Amino acid sequence: MKPVPEISEVTEPYWRAAAEGRFMLPRCNACDGVHHPPRRWCPHCWSQDMSWAEMSGRGHVMTFSIVHQPPSEGFEVPYILAVVKLEEGPQMMCNILKCTTGDVTIGMGVSVIFETRGDIALPQFKPA
Ligand SMILES: [Zn+2]
Repeated sequence: MKPVPEISEVTEPYWRAAAEGRFMLPRCNACDGVHHPPRRWCPHCWSQDMSWAEMSGRGHVMTFSIVHQPPSEGFEVPYILAVVKLEEGPQMMCNILKCTTGDVTIGMGVSVIFETRGDIALPQFKPA
């Protein structure tokens, strides 16, 4: 099986929402900034006053790489490793699923999809 992320006290709400099919990120109550990955402090203004907000799940591919060498057991190669910029601002590393390696392009619109790995659901992206 592919590796699963370690769930910490800080990231637990992110994974719980994903398991329910919702894509949530921390939003700062002081500056309204959204960030990923979840942290205790806002990376924009260092406030610790944050709430969880549901994201649109939409974004675009900033850059990508086609992976041909599996990093560990369970990965089917080739696959697409990408940095997606979310509509709400944050960037996140993810896989582009339901897309052939020849069809992915920089600037391509994508939407969130949840990949099941064991007991967790991992937010990933697919062509919009
Ligand atoms: Zn802030």
